[in-house]
Amino acid sequence: MLGDGSKAVKVHHLVKAPENTPGSVRKRESWDATEPATVYKTPEILPDGTHCTAATVIFRTRGCVWWWKSGCTFCGYFNDVRDDVTADDLFAQWDEAKRRLNDFEGCSMIKVYTSGTFFEDRENPPEWQEAILKETHERGLDLVIEAQAQMCTPEKIAWVAERHPGCTVAVGLEAYDDAVLRFHVNKGFSTKQWHRSVDMLKENGLRVKTYLLFKPPFMSEGDALELTSKWISEVAPYSDDISVNPMNIQRRTIVDRLYRNREYRTPWLWSLVEMLERTHDDLIESKARIIVHPTAGGKLRGAHNCGSCDIEVVSAIERYSVSADIREFANLDCECKGVWRAEVYSDLWLPAPMGTGANRRGSPVDLVRAP
Ligand code: SF4
Ligand SMILES: [Zn+2]
Repeated sequence: MLGDGSKAVKVHHLVKAPENTPGSVRKRESWDATEPATVYKTPEILPDGTHCTAATVIFRTRGCVWWWKSGCTFCGYFNDVRDDVTADDLFAQWDEAKRRLNDFEGCSMIKVYTSGTFFEDRENPPEWQEAILKETHERGLDLVIEAQAQMCTPEKIAWVAERHPGCTVAVGLEAYDDAVLRFHVNKGFSTKQWHRSVDMLKENGLRVKTYLLFKPPFMSEGDALELTSKWISEVAPYSDDISVNPMNIQRRTIVDRLYRNREYRTPWLWSLVEMLERTHDDLIESKARIIVHPTAGGKLRGAHNCGSCDIEVVSAIERYSVSADIREFANLDCECKGVWRAEVYSDLWLPAPMGTGANRRGSPVDLVRAP
């Protein structure tokens, strides 16, 4: 990988699923393009603080332009996309979502996720974008869409704001640190571009939701805890909502390769509790709301503890996302907390940038010297 004189190859192409192998094509073509990937309802909070039910619709789209070009190290959305999805397919998926959720009965909020940027014309046909924006606005539904920072242009943001004033645009910042964005996440944009997109969204009266990723690859547990807690406080003044996504391992990604090689452990749930306790006061001050829903929480591929306390800790974290009451974490304890604490301590005090925890295969001396 360091080079033996042969032509350079991107790490991404060494690791990620080759897009057009018979296996990949077969998998992509195995699903019906007229049905959404998934639809479900969850409890949520509206911008004015009232509790409500939100409908989430995950569409099967042509997928993220950035992924086809390079792609984030943790993102497995490409498993759900196909490059031949048409506008008719997307309209059919929308109708099917409404059918499955009883025309969004009882829902005040709707999250439209497209495995990329909602308003990027190469990913989604403009007539479909317009129909979704207008319909949700006319029906008084609070809308959340997703975007990459560099896809936010003044013209497009104004176009969105005109069709659905006040909607929320969620940007996957992942890390408020340019080195981490570049070397751990391969995000494709910088913090400067993120700031520019936030300014644009605010100028157009749109709400900003910021996603942060807890423990990208090539980072220790201790660093993840320290850095993410710092980033939350730093991005809070610019964000209406902050959603911290603890790493979950999606198939055929770079982080999946590391995980299967026993060189990466998904975050501890204790780290998330500690992070929320540390940032609680800053969030109250900035009025930003924090949301943490550990995907696959308690499972090996999601944030987990020892196996016996996981359900309780995941539930407390999820309750906190709705109640913002720090007392949710009172009385949580388990024997594994000592193991977690020792790992974080060692990560921060030993010269081991990739961490000292379990699942670091190989000679400990080599691991410390050459992460
Ligand atoms: S920008 Fe989003 S959808 Fe695109 S590769 Fe990165 S995480 Fe995946
Ligand atoms: Zn435990």
